[in-house]
Amino acid sequence: MDSELRELMDAIKEYDLKADFSLIEKAYHFAKKAHSGQKRLSGKDYFVHPVEVAKILIEWRADTASICAALLHDVVEDSKIDIKIMEKEFGKEIAQIVEGETKLRKIVFQSRDDYTAENIRKVLLATTKDIRVILIKLADRLHNMRTLKYFNKDKQKRISRETIDIYAPLAHKLGMYSLKGELEDLSLRYLESKVYQDLKKKIKEKRKSREVKAKILMGMIREKLKENNLEFIEVSGRAKYFYSIYKKMLREKKTFDEIYDLIAVRVIVKTIPECYKVLALIHQIWKPIPGRLKDYIAVPKSNGYQSLHTDVVSQFGSILEVQIRTLEMHYIAKYGVAAHWRYKGTERDKKFDKRISWLEQILDWKKKAPSEFLESLKVDLFQDEIVVFTPKGDPIILPDGSTPIDFAYEVHTGVGDHCVKAEVNNKLVSFDTRLKSGDIVKIITSNSARPSRNWLSFVKTNKAKTKIRSALGVEIDLKDQKETTDLSEEIDIKKYITYEGKKAPLKISRCCNPKFQDNIIAFKTKDKTITIHKTECPNIHSLDPSKRVNVKWSVPDKDIKEVIIYTEDKIGLIENILDTLIKSKLNVLSINVKDQKQKIQLTLKIKAEDLTLIENTENILKKIKFVKTVKIK
Ligand code: MN
Repeated sequence: MDSELRELMDAIKEYDLKADFSLIEKAYHFAKKAHSGQKRLSGKDYFVHPVEVAKILIEWRADTASICAALLHDVVEDSKIDIKIMEKEFGKEIAQIVEGETKLRKIVFQSRDDYTAENIRKVLLATTKDIRVILIKLADRLHNMRTLKYFNKDKQKRISRETIDIYAPLAHKLGMYSLKGELEDLSLRYLESKVYQDLKKKIKEKRKSREVKAKILMGMIREKLKENNLEFIEVSGRAKYFYSIYKKMLREKKTFDEIYDLIAVRVIVKTIPECYKVLALIHQIWKPIPGRLKDYIAVPKSNGYQSLHTDVVSQFGSILEVQIRTLEMHYIAKYGVAAHWRYKGTERDKKFDKRISWLEQILDWKKKAPSEFLESLKVDLFQDEIVVFTPKGDPIILPDGSTPIDFAYEVHTGVGDHCVKAEVNNKLVSFDTRLKSGDIVKIITSNSARPSRNWLSFVKTNKAKTKIRSALGVEIDLKDQKETTDLSEEIDIKKYITYEGKKAPLKISRCCNPKFQDNIIAFKTKDKTITIHKTECPNIHSLDPSKRVNVKWSVPDKDIKEVIIYTEDKIGLIENILDTLIKSKLNVLSINVKDQKQKIQLTLKIKAEDLTLIENTENILKKIKFVKTVKIK
């Protein structure tokens, strides 16, 4: 056994004597052979990379399948070995993780432009089956970030940007705080290298005096705990991440000194009651700053994070931040979802399943337009959340800044649509009140009430926005239409455009994203492809007019029908109609909604592969309650 392998085995033995060591050994040699002759940019053997990724997983105390998959994660991509061989050699579980990993690489963000909702959605769909695929991806990214110096400047920036936009928030969302901190600091180094170097210099200058102060303060805490016979596991200083200092400087418009003056200390004890005792004792030594006490033990963050936080004023006149938690909470704060491996098979294990429920929420994209999906993902990944409660005590997780209307729609669409009054903690409040964690929110509804357009100006969640818009029945174009329907495949508009009477290679520009039957204009690019823009796209003014070519829509008329429907004004009816059409295999290309006093006029353009389906449309629609008349042109 070579020394590298022995090192891996020893590290695994420290936490898992039941690991399948022979399988890990097999994966190790298999990957080593598959990568033989390949080099990393650093000049080292490629195999160093999967081994390092496996080491990160081992640090997180991963199971056998994950360690094997980490060793094998680049094998399918880089050699002729396919997934069938993988399955034969290592079994279905490992083969599936490796396959997820390989798929992820192919679709993940090839360039900045590729940050489309579609891609992220695919990524999540590909991975959600097994959270281990994401964990290996994160470990892979961490090792690549650690060795990023071998890349050229452009690539360093691109990879760092992607890390800070997608992977660090993902780590945060999974509760993996140390991973998040390291990913952000490594990204900052390449994205804002001046800022990074400057921070590094300043931190170095201040280190000594800070260490002395921290030592004194921690000594005082230890003394106080001993005096009160309170046994602690650890009282330690916390290093601040560069990026978090930088972000705080920007956010609070403060200087480095003001931020860095903060000393952060962590106390780890055995039990939850002890956490609160420690808090009381610390408040006996120093005065707490009002409003800065946060009890994440009683109300955990949605990623599972638990701790008590308090800020006090130390005798040095600077702020001392204290975090108090149990060892278990500490592991969860450090390893997030990966702490799962530490508690496998225990009661704790079940709780972790809940923690990844956000992934499923994101995957409930069927009712969202792609652009909105991305928006919701961003909001979800980048913003802190609050937890409020229904009068029955059910927790509802909302993005920070949410209002009672967001809450109402989160509880149920019907509650949102018919909301007339809102009470927070038994007091009547206005609809635009910002909710805080711990608030108890009660919504009073009335059947005759309807949403107000004004709500759109303050609601926070995309769910509320979408539902309000759909209840108001405003113009819905092809894009918005997806909010309410599951159009499982986007129509390929290229099929309907002809250039000089022929079907030519066409490209649809991303800047204005023309849709079916928009007014379009086309330009020939250097590589002779024809790029389609909307006529009102601002970018066309910078294009060479001599390269302009004529294109037009060519739609076989018989395929497209216009359907005019008159209905009663009922909430959810449009959704219902669209659902029915789609279930009948009819493609809805556009929809226009007009409010006419008591009635609503819907004009739809629909298309079917099979014309007999269109003939049947009238009958299908007339069966829907509240639909008055249907005309097909
Ligand atoms: Mn890799």
